[in-house]
Amino acid sequence: MHNATTAAFPTLLSSLQVGAHVLRNRTLMGSMHTRLESLDRPIERLAAFYAERARGGAGLIVTGGYAPCSDGRLDENGPMLVTPEQADELKPITNAVHAVGGKILLQVLHTGRYAKIAHPVGASAIPSPINPRAPRALSTQEVWQTIDDYARCAELAQRAGFDGVEIMGSEGYLINQFTVTRTNDRTDEFGGSMENRHRLPVEIVRRTRARVGPGFLLMYRISALDLVEGGAPANEIVHLAQSIQAAGADLLNTGIGWHEARIPTIAYVVPRAAWRFAAARIKKAVNIPVIVSNRINTPALAEEILASGDADMVSMARPFLADADFVNKAAQGRADEIAPCIACNQACLDYIFAERPATCLVNPRACHEVEFAQLPPPQAKRKVAVVGGGAAGLACAITAAERGHAVTLYEAGSAIGGQLNLAKAVPGKNEFDELLRYFQHSIERHGIDLRLQSRPDAATLAAAGYERIVVATGVRPRTPQIPGITHPKVVGYTDILAGKVQAGRRVAIIGAGGIGFDVAAFLLHDANDAHEAQQSVQTFFAEWGVDTSPDSTGGLKPPAPIKAPREVTLLQRKPEKPGRSLGLTTGWALKAELAQRKLRALSGCSYERIDDEGLQLSVHGAPQTLAVDTIVLCAGQDSENTLAAALRAQGIAADVIGGAELASELDALRAINQGMRLAYSIV
Ligand code: NAP
Ligand code: SF4
Repeated sequence: MHNATTAAFPTLLSSLQVGAHVLRNRTLMGSMHTRLESLDRPIERLAAFYAERARGGAGLIVTGGYAPCSDGRLDENGPMLVTPEQADELKPITNAVHAVGGKILLQVLHTGRYAKIAHPVGASAIPSPINPRAPRALSTQEVWQTIDDYARCAELAQRAGFDGVEIMGSEGYLINQFTVTRTNDRTDEFGGSMENRHRLPVEIVRRTRARVGPGFLLMYRISALDLVEGGAPANEIVHLAQSIQAAGADLLNTGIGWHEARIPTIAYVVPRAAWRFAAARIKKAVNIPVIVSNRINTPALAEEILASGDADMVSMARPFLADADFVNKAAQGRADEIAPCIACNQACLDYIFAERPATCLVNPRACHEVEFAQLPPPQAKRKVAVVGGGAAGLACAITAAERGHAVTLYEAGSAIGGQLNLAKAVPGKNEFDELLRYFQHSIERHGIDLRLQSRPDAATLAAAGYERIVVATGVRPRTPQIPGITHPKVVGYTDILAGKVQAGRRVAIIGAGGIGFDVAAFLLHDANDAHEAQQSVQTFFAEWGVDTSPDSTGGLKPPAPIKAPREVTLLQRKPEKPGRSLGLTTGWALKAELAQRKLRALSGCSYERIDDEGLQLSVHGAPQTLAVDTIVLCAGQDSENTLAAALRAQGIAADVIGGAELASELDALRAINQGMRLAYSIV
């Protein structure tokens, strides 16, 4: 097993001496808030969540953030570690991780002016653009007290059995607020000169080290790039890294961009490993190991970065949600079996921001380990038919086969994937290719009988003697009733995204849901190089205004102007601003990108007629003509449930899932979740 390891990913899977510890490989499961604390039995759930990742081979794990004092909490219910009793409550987590050979650090996080509490504190009384609550500046004495709070929190983590702590110094939280002039206009020993602005993190590391002794791992997460106006100049970042090393840190993890930055840092639009240059810059300046992070989601990419010398370890957070066995699969020559994180943020960050516990679009078991472990195993191998090879059908078929059932998967098209095949054509969404590759591989691995271009009818299914029939026949695009809808200018989104029809230079899109926006992105990129541009880190930096030069400040420069190949107008009937249904943590970036490409969006539309002139409509009651060459329909979908109805009519029992059950607001997240959960009910 370990020979395969060394052959495929020799650097990634080699051990690393850090301080008094030997890490079994160079993977770090980065810190993620899970909100599991908000559920019943939180410690049991957290222990199961982390232990599963440790069992899966993660070299080092970091918990979500624990505040060192009440001012530092994320919100009124945010986790804190301030008493010995709280430390003792966390022991089942460290015991569970250690029992399976893992190592785990507790993250100490003071949110400063980002805190969603009644009276946040900060370096100065400068409000944050993403928190309506204005902060109060900490007094000098309170800053020294906060330093002591960090050291005490680390000592309590030691009592709880953690192998060390991560001091969170990036992402615009309290420490970051002290290090830069944007948020620090203090005149005491914590403001003004660079040395003064760095005093808070340096003293935290120094005093923590003094309190916990040499054997306890001390990792500092440095902001390798702030991506905000008034952020740190590159030379100050390097200087801080050296000071942190001198103060006694064992490891430097890197963070990219403040939460208030207007440049996406981890969403799908960010090319893989885009930020490695920032970690490499720090690595050149220090002797302790440096960890690279963000948009690294395959062992091959992680290996390449480490082998190049840009970093010593790779942090992956979301990839460990998508697949707890990431490392073991890589080590056992089964990298193809790793469920890929597609950087959608839909079930992790979007859930967290909506105050729901996190999970994962491709792995609904994530953060629900306790619940899934309690589900009964199958009593017998069942003969199962799944009709429809889109997201819901695939998840159901693969999970059922994984649990030992004999599964036949019928798909009407010539390839699996359904709507996922369209998603992968959207600029930036090429990670969907990875997901489809993973599904295809899983079908083969679990011996699913896949029948393409096959539409079984109710009688055929009944005659085949299946013990369970699952209908996942998906959706049909909706055709709105507008006079002239059969005009040759009109085309459906499936033909556009599948490349069957080329749109003209002036385009109107009817419908501004997720697909309307995706089609706008598709049409506003040059068809030939959309994917290439997405892959190119340099293009991404130019378009978003990221400065990688050694004399940059905050990592920003003016974005390069973009010339879009078309004029696109996106329309909806609702009076509200279009884009409400987009993902919380990705929608803003998509809207910003499309605004740069001069997308025009109109709401309050009433469609009158389509004719040779274009689209005749009224906007908030005012009539107008949109002179366009092409009108793309993105007006939602209806369920394709002909088979379900036929089965019902003949009294044949079947489960109907995904879009076939309910078309409105269907997306891959709901489809996969429903498909997987149904498969668990086949016992
Ligand atoms: P959708 O979100 O329901 O949007 C349909 C759009 O069509 C709406 O803007 C609606 O707005 C309009 N519409 C509905 N009926 C119409 C009619 N009869 N005539 C004219 N316009 C009509 O559906 P979708 O965009 O097709 O997306 C399908 C699902 O996939 C959604 O759940 C979506 O969230 C998901 N998806 C997600 C992403 C993502 O990135 N997360 C991307 C793509 C799709 P008005 O009624 O106001 O006109
Ligand atoms: Fe990755 Fe999406 Fe899963 Fe989050 S929900 S871990 S971004 S695949």
